[in-house]
Amino acid sequence: MAETRLSVLWGRVLERVSPEIAPRSVETWLKPTALTDLTQNEAVLSVPNHFFGGWIKEHYTEQIQRALAEEIGQTQISVSFVVSQPTGEDASSVVASPEPIRTRKRRSYTIEKYVFDLPGTHTNYRSFVVGAGNAFAFSSAKRVAEKPGEAYNPFFLYGGVGLGKTHLANAIGNFVLAHSPSTRVRYVTAEQFTNDVIQSIRLGQMDELRNRYRNIDILLVDDIQFIAGKERTQEEFFHTFNALFDSGKQVVLTSDRSTKTMSEMDDRLRSRFEMGLMADVQLPDLETRVAILRQKSEEEGIALPQEVAFFLATHIKTSVRELEGALIRLGAFSSLSSEEMTVEMAKRTLRDTLQEKKKVITIDDIQQAIATRFKIKLSELRSKRRTRNIVHPRQIGMYLSREMTRLSYPEIGRAFGGKDHATVIHACRQIEKNKADDPNLNTLLESLSYQLNEA
Ligand code: ADP
Ligand code: MG
Repeated sequence: MAETRLSVLWGRVLERVSPEIAPRSVETWLKPTALTDLTQNEAVLSVPNHFFGGWIKEHYTEQIQRALAEEIGQTQISVSFVVSQPTGEDASSVVASPEPIRTRKRRSYTIEKYVFDLPGTHTNYRSFVVGAGNAFAFSSAKRVAEKPGEAYNPFFLYGGVGLGKTHLANAIGNFVLAHSPSTRVRYVTAEQFTNDVIQSIRLGQMDELRNRYRNIDILLVDDIQFIAGKERTQEEFFHTFNALFDSGKQVVLTSDRSTKTMSEMDDRLRSRFEMGLMADVQLPDLETRVAILRQKSEEEGIALPQEVAFFLATHIKTSVRELEGALIRLGAFSSLSSEEMTVEMAKRTLRDTLQEKKKVITIDDIQQAIATRFKIKLSELRSKRRTRNIVHPRQIGMYLSREMTRLSYPEIGRAFGGKDHATVIHACRQIEKNKADDPNLNTLLESLSYQLNEA
């Protein structure tokens, strides 16, 4: 059918659905779409991106089908979506310009499946389940998405691996795009950013890099801790950050550790990260973990009995990712063996996982435990102060950090008041030596490490 006829028809369809759909929603969702093809039984709509398609499909398919039926007298019409090609005038903007799927993938602007909340079960989208542990991170992320550049800038989201940082960062981007599709949103991992910097240096194309990262409205950088210690990348990021920040653009950063324990991160960057809002995501509580499993099992079409859900949620406390991994494995096992899912089967199938699952201990945890045990302030422990009542606990902290984390001597030194690696090595030797002939010290170390492992 000729293009103009299609667009006239689409205009009529929109008029027909308008009384049923809020004007703002028509404006936001339906106006940017076009009818690109119509056959006996299928209408193809072009949409700016996948998220749009999913949303329209979920919310407005019925109305569109009805209106189409009324217009052309055909009742069995299915509606499908294509992501539209870039248009000339929009080509400079990053995400606003509709792009074919492949280009979007390659440049990975946002991961579209991660959203804040969509009612119901979806195969293409993942809502974020909110509960104790992640509620603050969720609500502040949502607020950033509602008022980008205004509410909290920068927004620094940190927490352990697999707890939803990447999910929330992308949800911010997707939310903004959904409500204001012309916003230029860019999601990158810090690793990608680093590679871009290296590439640009190699090709002598720094200007191009700067253009790319500064002509945007929202920059989301995942796992920013990755650039620590990489001088040139930090330098470049510092300028990018300032350029965006100074023109009121939103910057969102995620990190697997707090700024305090980001060793080898440039102090200028560190202090900028701390300027806005810092929110930590923690492991959600048991009930929320069960709710996450419920959601995931519905999405995956896995029949998950309640007691198995509780069993998994009780035993897997490392991360949401692990939890989901266990569910998928059980689901696969039960469908392959046609065995019903039970707690007994879960125990059997996940035996290795459950045993391996040792807690990941961070230097933050260690410092916290030491500060509490010795009744000193965390800030003192992390300071340069050299009084005896601080030096001894600090040495123990350094020793435990070496034993219980994978951090290097310089990284540990940095976290304990900017000491150099020689100081840390000395501290570890000292404790090692004293431990041999001081039973009290031995007991203390054991009880601290027990506490850290069990907490
Ligand atoms: P991180 O970036 O913190 O390592 P991710 O964002 O990649 O973690 O999360 C790991 C997985 O767990 C993803 O599939 C994510 O969708 C899921 N997830 C984490 N937290 C939640 C939550 N509260 N609700 C639903 N899914 C979650
Ligand atoms: Mg992540």
